[in-house]
Amino acid sequence: MPDRIEILEANLRNIAIFHEEPGEQIIEEVKGHVRATAMPWTWRGHSHTRPPDEAFVVYIEEFDVPAKDTVPRVAPCPCCTPHHPKYKNKGKIAWFPNESVIRLIGPKCFASINAGGHEAAIIDLRKRQKRRSELATVALHGAKLEELVAAIDAAIPIADHLDAFMRDLAGAADQERLNFWRELREGTLTITERRRSLVRKADGRLSERDEEFRSTFASILGHSIFDRSQHGSAGKLRPLRSGLALLVNRVSEADQLGEADLEKVAEALPKARTSALDIFSGLSDRQRFLTSNAIEILAHWGQHPSSPLRFAISRKRSEVTLVGHKPHVIYIGLDATSPIPPIPEL
Ligand SMILES: [Zn+2]
Repeated sequence: MPDRIEILEANLRNIAIFHEEPGEQIIEEVKGHVRATAMPWTWRGHSHTRPPDEAFVVYIEEFDVPAKDTVPRVAPCPCCTPHHPKYKNKGKIAWFPNESVIRLIGPKCFASINAGGHEAAIIDLRKRQKRRSELATVALHGAKLEELVAAIDAAIPIADHLDAFMRDLAGAADQERLNFWRELREGTLTITERRRSLVRKADGRLSERDEEFRSTFASILGHSIFDRSQHGSAGKLRPLRSGLALLVNRVSEADQLGEADLEKVAEALPKARTSALDIFSGLSDRQRFLTSNAIEILAHWGQHPSSPLRFAISRKRSEVTLVGHKPHVIYIGLDATSPIPPIPEL
């Protein structure tokens, strides 16, 4: 047996000061003490006394005692092993309301005193932990909710104008049977060139042969402007925005929400942020088509004798002209190139 652990005099009696259910502050205090000392049994509120047989217990939270991996047990437990190491991980902050005390005990120790009480307390603890983590999620996201809504509001006109540009460009390309997306799916423009090369035939004579090979002409930014699956970002942002606006009230009174409602809000907020990040990143990809030299590069490619597509494209201020058999003028809305606001960091 390892050395006997001496318990401070102060902890050897019931410290009956916890008349109310311990809240976040006590949990933090215990966890902080255990982190700092690795000695839960010295916490000022810990009663190192054996619980009565009929005791009713509430598990407030769990804690791990810091120790090397090779050390299996660290802390003594007032339920069963008062002076020798009994547990390390998943120790319980156990509140005994009938005695108004808190005992820091081993993960399953109380089960040997009152198995039914332990089981019920575990089920209740899982619910508490779920609720606590949901409240933390809501608080984290809720703090930035107004900023997120403002960012979406600012992005909607940009999305409207980029969507319109994309739609008109696709319409013009369709009329000219120019399948841009097939050609530059990867953002790379290729040309097909022929070259004559000499080959030696079986009889030893040399002959000339034509070879075809594809080579990279250039790459462009913002090629996703041609990706039809990206269309309609404004149509995604508007419902996202109204959904978030509905959540504002629920976020402010999150701690009064019932189990099911809180769960919904805690799921909806991160999901909405992820959707916004997705849509915004799609917007800025496509915007690069208008803010980089993509149109100039496309113009060179469309005129290259070995380009798979023949067309002319040019831009004058807020108009792009695409010419195949006939010219199509595509208007660039004023907001299409406005700076896309950042999504607030959490
Ligand atoms: Zn124990």
